[in-house]
Amino acid sequence: MTTLIIGGGWSGLAAAVTLTQQGHPVHLIESAKQLGGRARNVKWHNQTIDNGQHLMIGAYHHMLEILQLIGIEQTSVFHRLALDLTIYDSQYPPLHLSSKGWLPWPLSLAWNFISSTGLSGLQQVVRLQLQIPDLLASNDITVSDWLLSSKQSERLIKQLWEPLCLATLNTPIHQASAHVMAKVLQESLGKGKKAADLLIPARPLGDVFPKAAAKYIKQHGGEISLQIRAKEILIRQGKVQGIMMGNNSIIAANNIIVATSPSQCADLLAPHIKLTKPDEYPICTVFLQYPDNVRLPTPMLGMTGTLSQWIFDRSEQSPGLMAVVISAPGNHEKMSKQDLVQQVCKEIHQNIPSLPTQAVHSFVIREKRATFACTVNIEQKRPHCQTDIQGLWLTGDFIANAFPATIEGAIHNGKICAHKLLNTDLCL
Ligand SMILES: Cc1cc2nc3c(=O)[nH]c(=O)nc-3n(C[C@H](O)[C@H](O)[C@H](O)COP(=O)(O)OP(=O)(O)OC[C@H]3O[C@@H](n4cnc5c(N)ncnc54)[C@H](O)[C@@H]3O)c2cc1C
Repeated sequence: MTTLIIGGGWSGLAAAVTLTQQGHPVHLIESAKQLGGRARNVKWHNQTIDNGQHLMIGAYHHMLEILQLIGIEQTSVFHRLALDLTIYDSQYPPLHLSSKGWLPWPLSLAWNFISSTGLSGLQQVVRLQLQIPDLLASNDITVSDWLLSSKQSERLIKQLWEPLCLATLNTPIHQASAHVMAKVLQESLGKGKKAADLLIPARPLGDVFPKAAAKYIKQHGGEISLQIRAKEILIRQGKVQGIMMGNNSIIAANNIIVATSPSQCADLLAPHIKLTKPDEYPICTVFLQYPDNVRLPTPMLGMTGTLSQWIFDRSEQSPGLMAVVISAPGNHEKMSKQDLVQQVCKEIHQNIPSLPTQAVHSFVIREKRATFACTVNIEQKRPHCQTDIQGLWLTGDFIANAFPATIEGAIHNGKICAHKLLNTDLCL
């Protein structure tokens, strides 16, 4: 019988692709008008942009694998760049995190780091890295407690660890889980040069995976229905029966994968299973359209001590277009769009004087529930994909894995969930 998938974000789509590839029939329903969920296309003026700037890295193996499976060349959807980040701060000189140069990895990274922080900067990073096994074997603590116990300098905390923690966990260091941060560092910087490559989407997000995934699913006999909302999951005697939709009609199914966000999943399953509803934190992206000839010195750069955290040059998509990312909760949430744009433009101009003081057009997208808050002990709150109810499966970025809320975690879980479902079906 056809497996019903509720939710057409990247995780639900990954589950659907994996099942159809194995010849298993699927029907994916999505409540929105389009696929993609928290990584989707948005219209602005006459162009298509992202609902929020995303950055992937070379360590996103599951994402790259599934793109290959559906016939997408990664070079057609990403700019793949060797790690090369400069983080500007008003108090300290620019900090370089870069694998460029003639030395082999990781010496190139170490050499570039020493050139901006001195030998003591590198010693601190190595000290932190050496603590990871012990940290993971002990109770979880906050990232800031870990940094303090490892005697990281104020400069490194401000100009390196805080921005990296916000970018990857979307959670401030005084709340963020040191365990998850440690795993992120192992995956991104501990797995060789290619794993640390930056993959900047070269196309709007919906065109990177969701559209191609939908085409693949349909070509392999699967069905996709948009603007269909699952209102209730029907369960009798511990077995899944189907769902009731918004219009009270029923779709029968003996396998259902719930692939919604964590809070939507907890609400939908509340009558049957009690799931933890994590806090969900915002990400704000400010799109700034400058004159066509305006460019950043590098495709992306960081800023600390400012509201603006990361700036991406999206000129390949639209000449002069920049995307400024502000992760996690903060004072910017209370600011009007106009004040926010003004402040962000001012900060950019102060750090990179070649950019004009004002943009020609601007567009602010505030995703209020962008990711689950990756707080201390979050690992214990994440459910597994298999539930106690026969035929009820869970996927999505919150389902247990080593990653914070990411595209890679969402896809990894979608694939695992599909494989477990197939294996269980074979055993029945
Ligand atoms: C602004 C922003 C920036 C981000 N930056 C990055 C980044 O740089 N790198 C990175 O890796 N990750 C980033 N993320 C996180 C990443 O986008 C998410 O982790 C990922 O998209 C989650 O996918 P998902 O499929 O698990 O969930 P979702 O995308 O939330 O998909 C769930 C889908 O289910 C649908 N749905 C919900 N309820 C129902 C229902 N009852 N019936 C039918 N359908 C339903 C929803 O409409 C949605 O489409 C960012 C997220 C945001 C918002």
